[in-house]
Amino acid sequence: MTASLAAALVAAKEPLKLISRTLPAPSAGEVTLKLEACALGLSDWDVAMLDGLPRLPVVLGAEAVGRVTACGPGVALAVGQRVALTPLASTCGACALCERGLEQYCAKIQVHGFGRDGALTTAGNFLAQHLLPIDDGLDAAALCAVLTSAWSALGGMQAAAIGNGQTIAVFGVGGVGAQVIQVARMRGARVIAVEPEADRRALALQLGAERALAPADAPSLKHSVHAALVCTPSTQAIVQAQRALLPAGNLVLLGGGPATRFDLPLFDVVARGISIRGSFLGSRSELLEVLEWVRAGKLQAPFVRAPLADAPERLYGLRDLGFLGRLIFDL
Ligand SMILES: [Zn+2]
Repeated sequence: MTASLAAALVAAKEPLKLISRTLPAPSAGEVTLKLEACALGLSDWDVAMLDGLPRLPVVLGAEAVGRVTACGPGVALAVGQRVALTPLASTCGACALCERGLEQYCAKIQVHGFGRDGALTTAGNFLAQHLLPIDDGLDAAALCAVLTSAWSALGGMQAAAIGNGQTIAVFGVGGVGAQVIQVARMRGARVIAVEPEADRRALALQLGAERALAPADAPSLKHSVHAALVCTPSTQAIVQAQRALLPAGNLVLLGGGPATRFDLPLFDVVARGISIRGSFLGSRSELLEVLEWVRAGKLQAPFVRAPLADAPERLYGLRDLGFLGRLIFDL
């Protein structure tokens, strides 16, 4: 039995509450983790604003670092192992998508902070299947800051086949956009960022973007980029991104709430051979690549830290864009 304090949604569209839990011993396939740090992002906000949730209460937070303190039957991890936790809690491991390395699209996916309890807690029981062993050298908060963002960035890059000599536009320089810029630069692409906030445009330049434009200036990009990656739920950004593409260009969508819809001009998409793709999270092999970049110091993610007690208030502050990068809680 382990005592824990968690930030949980207890009712749909209500503020987060701090709840005390007593954890049972981990079941088959599960481990108990003592968490070190966990990120909170706009996807958590989207979950908090849903009308119907698969279960309540549910602990939010899906990018975290912790250490195994107990193992249930059938778990290969050892007590004391440090691990990274991502939104992927479990997948079937046997369907065609899982076998093709597209496990994040498995029909049987379970997601932390939605259908299963997330990691915004001092301790919790988690399925071991997708936990990734990590060494002790990496700072927990810095690691949390890159987990989902860089991971989805990589998936988006692969979808768009970003490479040498291409010019890409990145719309939105939040946690995900900041990673997209760095990964695209590593792949030899030239990057133009589009972002409403001046401090985030400055960050984009610092991370290797050639230019950083306010959305009002995005029309100047018309028909000039090979790919546009939209890392914001803004539908204006999606329309601007489509217009920015060269013929046969790739429009990749990495963000967006469940209620968001967008309109695109059908003829322009058809006549210019535009491809539109969504990209969600990534696979474990992509995550391993991301962790290698973090170890090598090639990937950075700005973040701010907060104590767990501030989680209810900070969730509502996420929409205000009052900080750069990711919001990480020390646990
Ligand atoms: Zn599957």
